[in-house]
Amino acid sequence: MNTQPSKPINFIDLKAQREYLGVKIDNAINNVVNSCAFIMGPQVREFEAKMAQFAGAKYALSCANGTDAIALPLMAWGVGEGDAVFCPSFTFAATAEVIPWVGATGVFVDVYQDTYNMDVAHLEASIEKVIAEGKLKPKVVIAVDLFGQPADYPKIRAICDKYGMKLISDSAQGFGCTLNGKHPIEWADCQTASFFPAKPLGCYGDGGAVITNSQEDWDLMDSLRVHGKAVAGDLEGKTFDHDPKYMNMRIGMNSRLDTIQAAVLIEKLAIYEEEIEKRNEIAAYYYEGLKDVCVAPVVIENGVSNWAQYTIEVPNRDGLMAHLRENGVPSAAYYPIPMHVQGPYLGFVNTGYGTLPITENKADVVMSLPMHPYLDKETQDYIIAKIKEFLTK
Ligand SMILES: *Cc1c(COP(=O)(O)O)cnc(C)c1O
Repeated sequence: MNTQPSKPINFIDLKAQREYLGVKIDNAINNVVNSCAFIMGPQVREFEAKMAQFAGAKYALSCANGTDAIALPLMAWGVGEGDAVFCPSFTFAATAEVIPWVGATGVFVDVYQDTYNMDVAHLEASIEKVIAEGKLKPKVVIAVDLFGQPADYPKIRAICDKYGMKLISDSAQGFGCTLNGKHPIEWADCQTASFFPAKPLGCYGDGGAVITNSQEDWDLMDSLRVHGKAVAGDLEGKTFDHDPKYMNMRIGMNSRLDTIQAAVLIEKLAIYEEEIEKRNEIAAYYYEGLKDVCVAPVVIENGVSNWAQYTIEVPNRDGLMAHLRENGVPSAAYYPIPMHVQGPYLGFVNTGYGTLPITENKADVVMSLPMHPYLDKETQDYIIAKIKEFLTK
């Protein structure tokens, strides 16, 4: 039980999954290569339909990465100068980065002690603060499903409704997580995903998607992802004496998902439900093994995480990480420096040390353990033993 596994331990094991999928992946990629439909080939639409179905939503719009996926709804809704967009500081940079892209002002919100997700009381206090200052108009909340577990969507939706705001669920890590059996799009106006290879649903390069129930938003974002091209809504009731293909109706960008990536994702999505189950078994095994020696993750009531990360808290985080490294166990600290203290983000509201105490504390104590659907019990036993060895000595 205490002996090191013969194979190196991976933090995320993409090779094991690739072997499991086998020839299906080869065929999927070969089909695209042979068809030469590299851009917007039929697999893109097929994947979008399957992605929407998976999430229980009407539409999915694929794009180049999970960062653009958050920017696209902001652009579609015309969010810009004078608007306030609220997001957590305890997240990956992309969540906050897209806010200044569109000229809006970000407002950082603290997180809960136990779930690491947006603190609804602090969200409302921050909205009230912005209203009282009178310079910005609260427009959008971007909630993050950090480490794969759903944010408190019913409460966040209620706040958004109270203040007439839109809600984006940044599910870059969390796509596949549910609350009361529903995906975040049940509450959010748009739910976004990243297919960066290390995310739970990753492709073989960069990719992203936006899920929505609004046909109008889908059309606008379809235009925006291809340089503001004219879409059905732009052409209705109008006639043109030239090809409307080259008409640009708005300032957009180039953010398409490659056909090869869509083909890979079709195969990966087909096993994703099964993988989420395995991830939950692995998380439960970690929980049993470690709950007495460290702060174990807490998932929101009636929530199911996809366990993008299995994150524990220990006082001497750096010491434990070094001990594990010496014993061949990779680990990672997500995220050691909160966004609200980083230079480029000091123009947001709620910045600097002392403003978000829980976020600041978490950054010092959290660490994530190897987590992927192909992690075997022997390896987990070894990881658990090595953690206990350090924490109980
Ligand atoms: C990875 C990530 C993103 C960005 O996704 P990319 O595909 O890398 O652009 C956005 N938000 C969160 C929370 C992420 O973890």
